[in-house]
Amino acid sequence: MQTERIYNLSYVNADLSGFLHHLEKSYINQRVGAYIATVNPEIGYAAAKDSSYCDVLSAADFILPDGIGVVMMSKLTNNRLKSRIAGYDVFVNLLKIANDKQKRIFLYGAKKEVNQAVVDRISSEYPGISIVGYSDGYAQDKEAVAKRIAKAKPDMVFVALGYPHQERFIYEYKHLFPQAIAIGLGGSFDVFSGTVKRAPNFLIRLNLEWLYRLLTNPSRWKRMLNIPKYAFTVLKEEKVQKQSYYPEQVKERSKQIDA
Ligand code: UDP
Repeated sequence: MQTERIYNLSYVNADLSGFLHHLEKSYINQRVGAYIATVNPEIGYAAAKDSSYCDVLSAADFILPDGIGVVMMSKLTNNRLKSRIAGYDVFVNLLKIANDKQKRIFLYGAKKEVNQAVVDRISSEYPGISIVGYSDGYAQDKEAVAKRIAKAKPDMVFVALGYPHQERFIYEYKHLFPQAIAIGLGGSFDVFSGTVKRAPNFLIRLNLEWLYRLLTNPSRWKRMLNIPKYAFTVLKEEKVQKQSYYPEQVKERSKQIDA
């Protein structure tokens, strides 16, 4: 998969269907596991501030640009990131693939009743899927959950604990379930269960999902301040890089002219 680097992370540069096609062909069909991180500007900013979290994200096989803010930063820094790939869309499409191919899945995260509602919906709408285990996201003993996952031998592990917990969990325990696709999904279980509504399609198409989230959940405004902070951090780094590259490029050019 082609990637594009923004600040300190390399993002998959494909659209949703291109990414899913690659994942299905080279991983799911071959029973090869993968760790997928879905990174929005807030997470990008957390990784910029915390090098240990950056290491956890960098260990992913795929970092998906899960937010129009990441794609916009790519455009502003002259990168060529094609498209946003939303974690929620990947989740729903992986369920379709799991249903068609009769795969085994484990669902970890969210409140008990939300997790149960996700289990119920999948059981009734995706009869081809075997749910081999599930746990809410508030269990104290994460290692015990990881061991349950290892024992259940799922093909896909959906982890919806919010960042940074979900990525830290996958990073720490993925060796226990090496053949599984493990993906961090943030609040996707809340949306899938109907507890939280996703923005209407026209707002998603207008790239205004973030605004919908802010208006429907105003207590997020503090978290959302991290979006402009992320933009500022990325643009500042870009400026520093340009300044330090420029004299080198001039030297190279003058060498070529001299020769
Ligand atoms: N969550 C969890 N365990 C925790 C903290 C959070 O399972 O210890 C869940 C929470 O119930 C929610 C999800 O993680 O379902 C995080 O949602 P949020 O909206 O913060 O994620 P985002 O999509 O913004 O990353």
